[in-house]
Amino acid sequence: MSIEQNVKQILSELPEGVKLVAAAKARTPEEILAAINAGVKIIGENYVQEAERAYEVIGDRAEWHFIGHLQKNKVKKAVRIFDMIETVDSFELAKEIDKRCAQIGKVMPVLIEVNIAREEQKSGVLPEDTEKLLKEISTLPNIRVMGLMTMGPLSENPEDSRPYFAAMRKLFEQLKQLNLPNVEMKYLSMGMTNSYKIAPEEGANIVRIGTKIFGERSRP
Ligand SMILES: *Cc1c(COP(=O)(O)O)cnc(C)c1O
Repeated sequence: MSIEQNVKQILSELPEGVKLVAAAKARTPEEILAAINAGVKIIGENYVQEAERAYEVIGDRAEWHFIGHLQKNKVKKAVRIFDMIETVDSFELAKEIDKRCAQIGKVMPVLIEVNIAREEQKSGVLPEDTEKLLKEISTLPNIRVMGLMTMGPLSENPEDSRPYFAAMRKLFEQLKQLNLPNVEMKYLSMGMTNSYKIAPEEGANIVRIGTKIFGERSRP
């Protein structure tokens, strides 16, 4: 199937109110444009340099979400391109984003990335540390927390992800109840190619899909 057909199929399958982020790592600007022409509104990028090249071609024809591991020395460039950073998992990183956004007069919407399955070597804040981080970040004037994001453990069987998605939703609801100033618990970003059908059943309203749109990748 073509990129166009894949996008149309996914859009027809997603429940109303669920946003699709096309995860575009290792794809060419032409492939990304094909997805946009088929109805994709948000592009997810894992690497700032790759995003810069795609942004030069595509510009504001899409919204840009950062979904990779953001290094501090890339923040200055990232805050110019991206409309949302989905992967904030430390106060250090948040402070750098805040500082760089202050310099260009921007308030950056962010999601906090949670390592819900407590996997070693995975980025994301541990579930029990999320409230503390949220409270710290909520004091930064040039950042606005808009929700949570998780990768979750990779598995052949999408049903294996369900308990982790459910745990994310529970955490999301708990944090929402706090009604913190400068925090808007609006988005829960979870679900990828193998799990995008069940993630919305467990409360996701952003899914991030790469392979199912663009085909298999040659590199991660
Ligand atoms: C690559 C990637 C995705 C999409 O993965 P697929 O399995 O190809 O759909 C989603 N989220 C993040 C953070 C990614 O890096």
